[in-house]
Amino acid sequence: MFDKVLIANRGEIALRIQRACKELGIATVAVHSTADADAMHVRLADESVCIGPPPAAESYLNIPRLLAACEITGADAVHPGYGFLSENARFAEILEEHQITFIGPTSEHIRIMGDKIEAKETAKRLGIPVVPGSDGAVTSETEAMRIAKAMGFPVLIKATAGGGGRGMKVAHTPVDLGLALSTARAEAKAAFGNDAVYIEKYLTKPRHIEVQVFGDGQGNAIHLGERDCSLQRRHQKVLEEAPSPALNAAARAKIGETVAEAMRKLKYRGAGTVEFLYEAGEFYFIEMNTRLQVEHPVTEAITGIDLVLEQIRVASGAQLSHKQKDITFAGHAIECRINAENPRTFRPSPGQISYWHPPGGLGVRVDSGVYQGYRIPPYYDSLIGKLIVHGKTRNECLMRLKRALSEFVIDGIETTIPLFNELIAQPDIANGLYDIHWLEKYLAKS
Ligand code: ADP
Repeated sequence: MFDKVLIANRGEIALRIQRACKELGIATVAVHSTADADAMHVRLADESVCIGPPPAAESYLNIPRLLAACEITGADAVHPGYGFLSENARFAEILEEHQITFIGPTSEHIRIMGDKIEAKETAKRLGIPVVPGSDGAVTSETEAMRIAKAMGFPVLIKATAGGGGRGMKVAHTPVDLGLALSTARAEAKAAFGNDAVYIEKYLTKPRHIEVQVFGDGQGNAIHLGERDCSLQRRHQKVLEEAPSPALNAAARAKIGETVAEAMRKLKYRGAGTVEFLYEAGEFYFIEMNTRLQVEHPVTEAITGIDLVLEQIRVASGAQLSHKQKDITFAGHAIECRINAENPRTFRPSPGQISYWHPPGGLGVRVDSGVYQGYRIPPYYDSLIGKLIVHGKTRNECLMRLKRALSEFVIDGIETTIPLFNELIAQPDIANGLYDIHWLEKYLAKS
């Protein structure tokens, strides 16, 4: 096991990782920019190193400075959290070259899954169902038209290097195709410096359902069920739940086993999430994230498994501590992402938190890196906390969520809490009847 882990992240996830390290008896190193000198993850770590000025490119994304922090503190492993360098294959490779363990998959697996076309081809080869579309990149409009007509409209043009929903354009009819192709290319070129695009069938009413997997790099892999993340705004998840209201036990076991078997073939190591769109009873692979997800706590709530602890164990060379037959799912969990944003316009609302009173009680978990008097810096993501509730049934979970939201007081800044109060009062949400477009439509009409 490791002696000292450096956490290359900030905010709630840095604290989350520290908690797992402490319970394993591992010393922790926090890194921070000058804007985060007062952050909770810095205060609670055993040691901390300032790695640069506020812009992420000069601090949290700066590999030489992170390496120097490892060297100064003698850290023998790095946990990247999510975002920042968590899916940077080069970072994983450089750490290994310096005999520092990257708590995550191999750099090769990160690289494969980071390229959407390669990821899709790999998924297909491993027996995972994918969205119908072009075989690889499309180079001309003639080729695009031929594929789109064969598949039927609407189609979606997607950037190979895509992320965050950029470089994605829908063509509803043949007339739209030329423009969709050129705008997707231009957007991809500007955002990723790579204008390669491919075509997929555009699913009109899908849910976003993702499967949590775990491998030990030694050919063992299990799945921990699914999360439903269909409530999205601009392709960003807002609320997540497990299990999905749309799946039964047989469908869950089938897709879970398909994904776990694929991970066994790949000899995948660590935590991973295979994301699907789910429509009319069929799953369609969209991408794989080779890291811990923001919404991992809903899986922890229903399985009782500490995902971060398991990541650390597996990275240290241990085999998985659980077998598939030992995994059981208990009750229902929902996570709300509490962002420092206006709940209607979603404009970021940094500033000082003058009052902070998180909810408590049975089945309520708050993961956050803030505290009363803390000043939220304007430089980073606006996620300031996550409220996770667990109940025996979905209905109990919703009632508990309503109760917990009513206790939550955050003053001094705007947050997304009022939006969640509204959402849980909607019959479609109460009944679990929503697809990936539901929230955008709701926001447009209310
Ligand atoms: P990114 O990496 O840019 O986030 P993803 O491939 O993960 O891109 O897709 C993000 C979101 O875009 C999905 O959650 C879904 O809402 C939508 N999307 C992606 N592919 C399709 C498709 N073929 N049909 C309909 N919607 C899609």
